[in-house]
Amino acid sequence: MKFGTKAIHAGVKADASTGAIMTPIYQTSTYVQEEVGVHKGYAYSRTQNPTRDALEQNIAALENGTFGACFGSGLAAIDCILKMLNPGDEVISTNDLYGGTFRLFTTIFEKYDITFHFVGMSGADAVKEHLNDKTKLIWVETPTNPMINIVDIEAIVEVAKSSSAMVCVDNTFATPYLQNPLDLGADIVMHSVTKYLGGHSDVVMGALVTSNEDIAKEMYRIQNSSGAVPGPMDCFLVLRGIKTLHLRMQRHCENGEKLAVFLKEHPKVENVYWPGFEDHPGHATAKNQMKGFGGMLSFSLVGNNKQQAFDVVKKVKVFALAESLGGVESLIGHPVTMTHAAIPKEEREKIGIVDSLIRLSVGVEDAEDLINDLKQALA
Ligand SMILES: *Cc1c(COP(=O)(O)O)cnc(C)c1O
Repeated sequence: MKFGTKAIHAGVKADASTGAIMTPIYQTSTYVQEEVGVHKGYAYSRTQNPTRDALEQNIAALENGTFGACFGSGLAAIDCILKMLNPGDEVISTNDLYGGTFRLFTTIFEKYDITFHFVGMSGADAVKEHLNDKTKLIWVETPTNPMINIVDIEAIVEVAKSSSAMVCVDNTFATPYLQNPLDLGADIVMHSVTKYLGGHSDVVMGALVTSNEDIAKEMYRIQNSSGAVPGPMDCFLVLRGIKTLHLRMQRHCENGEKLAVFLKEHPKVENVYWPGFEDHPGHATAKNQMKGFGGMLSFSLVGNNKQQAFDVVKKVKVFALAESLGGVESLIGHPVTMTHAAIPKEEREKIGIVDSLIRLSVGVEDAEDLINDLKQALA
């Protein structure tokens, strides 16, 4: 089946008792058993819930994977992967990553004697350098947040082959519509479902997908043991959101391109970070591993003045000043003070997150209105 058909149908069956075409919201914690140990496959909703099952199967299908698991947030999904490790293990992570992931790694898991190496992944050399017998996880995020750098997934997978390390890709920015890391050899794909999969800024959720049976066993064991599961109402909302994922992504990509081109020509804009430009260092890789360039982009201002960036994000009228991304509505943000405040200034500037950097999550509105909005805000 092709993507759009899977988005609408995968994991979803007409309800057996009524024929309802939409998966019901099974708002129940427990299930009546006919006699001790005899039930219909459901015993308690932390372990399994029919609405969540449908969503987990749907997301797994979109990623061309076998096993899906949903969590109470993207970070809870990442937390599950880290709990597969043991004290003494090492992780190699991209250095240009979501601030909350950095905080989870450094303030929670370092405490349990897991060592993190944060490295640039524009090439695979730094990964090769840190890889050893203790490396159990390689953490990839591509495109990265907020610099929209591209990591060559196949190159990292190739290096990892010589070790026992799992490769996990945070595919939140690309979505399964644009990029399928499992097809490129990754072991696990992770999503902040909060973003494009939900797509309507009304749910916080995370997901993992794998085709590896051993990893899946651990994933479900930890999902049930730690208990960071989403509720059935949220699963229903995401099932509904995913039905238009392919349509939304097409428009996100179109609008992203139009805004990137507009900003590049603007005299007050210094740099525009969008992988569709031929001079973007990750352009060739993006073209190779993605079906489009997405709706995320960042730009810095001539003179690199923080106050000027504050003025721009204050003056916009269609864009909303907010954290998060991937919803139908366009959002604008200032990474230094918002999403990336948890990353030390020194680390931040090393990777280009400067004071005037502004990040856009380009929505699916009419591009002309978005361009006019930025035009007046930059004037
Ligand atoms: C938002 C986000 C996360 C964390 O997900 P939550 O749902 O907010 O917990 C992780 N990675 C990326 C790239 C994100 O954008």
